[in-house]
Amino acid sequence: MHPSVAGRMSQTGARGGACAAVTLAGQPVCENGAVPEGSPEHLDVLIVGAGLSGIGAAWHLQDRCPGKRYAILEARDDLGGTWDLFRYPGIRSDSDMHTLGYRFKPWTRSKTITDGPSILEYVRETAREDGIEPKIRFGHRVVAASWSSEETRWTVEAERAEDGERVTLTCDFLWICSGYYRYDEGFTPRFEGEERFAGPVVHPQHWPEDLDYEGKRVVVIGSGATAVTLVPAMAEKAAQVTMLQRSPTYIASLPAEDRVATGLRRLLPDRAVYALVRWKNVLIQTAFFQLSRRRPAIVKRLVRKGVVRALPPGYDVDKHFKPKYEPWDQRMCLVPDGDLFRAISGGSASVVTDTIASFTERGIALDSGEELEADVIVTATGLNLLFLGGIELEVDGEPADLPSKMTYKGMMLSGVPNFAFTVGYTNASWTLKADLTSEFVCRLLRHMDAGGHARVQADADPSVEPAPLLDFTSGYVQRSLHEFPKQGSKEPWKLRQNYVFDIGTIRRGSLEDGALRFSGPPAGDRPAERITA
Ligand SMILES: Cc1cc2nc3c(=O)[nH]c(=O)nc-3n(C[C@H](O)[C@H](O)[C@H](O)COP(=O)(O)OP(=O)(O)OC[C@H]3O[C@@H](n4cnc5c(N)ncnc54)[C@H](O)[C@@H]3O)c2cc1C
Repeated sequence: MHPSVAGRMSQTGARGGACAAVTLAGQPVCENGAVPEGSPEHLDVLIVGAGLSGIGAAWHLQDRCPGKRYAILEARDDLGGTWDLFRYPGIRSDSDMHTLGYRFKPWTRSKTITDGPSILEYVRETAREDGIEPKIRFGHRVVAASWSSEETRWTVEAERAEDGERVTLTCDFLWICSGYYRYDEGFTPRFEGEERFAGPVVHPQHWPEDLDYEGKRVVVIGSGATAVTLVPAMAEKAAQVTMLQRSPTYIASLPAEDRVATGLRRLLPDRAVYALVRWKNVLIQTAFFQLSRRRPAIVKRLVRKGVVRALPPGYDVDKHFKPKYEPWDQRMCLVPDGDLFRAISGGSASVVTDTIASFTERGIALDSGEELEADVIVTATGLNLLFLGGIELEVDGEPADLPSKMTYKGMMLSGVPNFAFTVGYTNASWTLKADLTSEFVCRLLRHMDAGGHARVQADADPSVEPAPLLDFTSGYVQRSLHEFPKQGSKEPWKLRQNYVFDIGTIRRGSLEDGALRFSGPPAGDRPAERITA
């Protein structure tokens, strides 16, 4: 358990003390600052999730809306989200830290495609240095949130891990930074004859600390980012690692160290180097994505050429590395310094493209008739997507039906007042969009305070056609898309997935855009001192 968890937990729903009829920001408090018996604790902003996004959100809130009282509710016992949860060998980013890092905190280490523990340390450092850590209430899973227009506030219910008790808080603004997948369970399809295999079958999301694979034969099922990370990392110790894939993925190699950044560091201060390299990478990635969409044949040729160069002559590149879909119809995989290709070339790893007939006592029988012998099987078969951390939302007593909602700028939901969520880009580093979302939410809160508005809501425009939120063809996206809200056919409902474009609309775009409706407090209901300009 995180050292400060116990302390934090006891703060929530603090009770008792000599209670005077004092009203502070709309909330009755006792003389000792505690909340009187019976009234839930009230906050200006409640953030859900203490991962990369939640910590970034808190940083922006402290920086741009310093008067706001806020807390972060985090289901787990530690911060860092993804970068704390995943512990498999080789865990690393597959995008560069100059764009996966926060805009406000330069990444100064030499490796730009870096290991999970370094990313976790970067998030921790932000939370520590900027005084965010004490605001986190660990072990609090938010299960329900209910908006009341009469009270102009959210009532949020969280389950406390310590004792299973329900804790109630209220807040003016609810901000969900819960990531995009289920934490309790990764996705594993059902395999015929699973029970016959005698060795360990492991999902990367639940990696056993003591898994011994030294000198053993390992089969990794999958071809996504996790599989291509695991294969070269496990190949360092295992006797042989086989990546078993149903179909190939686009894989490109990038240097783990950004030579431009290394060179510039000798001449310029960290902040300037970070800003320059971040922009260089944003522009290269944006151009590459646009090229993939407009001229896919060129990108296919370029990626293929890279793979052919990295593998031994005669290797069947088209069988194992030529996907059936177009580049960026699914997320493209990056491998630092060609580590996967080096493992294949060196003979410690191999790729088999085939389908699974069944698990056997000795390994996996394939539809081609071949059998892959294994001591350990790793199912790198993906995630179960989950929107808003599984929180049940209600607006004025009505359940908020997510598939019928439309996302405003990919960060608010139509018809859901005083509410935002942070979800990053799928075609670029997550944090680029997370930072923009944070800037927008802070701008929104300041605008509301300055204008005396207690409520903001994105109103759906009936002339806007709904469209699926994501256009990825990947199985994990297609499996869950029906549970997600929609995007719209035009701005501000359309999800651009384009940082450069979003700077114009999210960082600079007017808040009074006709889609956002601001309204003031109901007469006589709210004290004027709540509004801080
Ligand atoms: C293995 C892996 C590698 C990745 N690599 C990259 C990469 O290289 N580049 C990139 O851009 N993206 C990458 N991603 C996507 C990655 O998840 C994001 O980059 C980023 O870490 C997401 O941060 P987050 O804070 O939004 O979500 P998360 O990291 O998922 O954190 C969410 C937090 O919210 C908490 N939470 C969830 N629901 C609730 C609830 N109901 N109540 C309370 N707390 C809750 C969780 O416990 C967690 O701590 C990767 C993802 C995975 C799984």
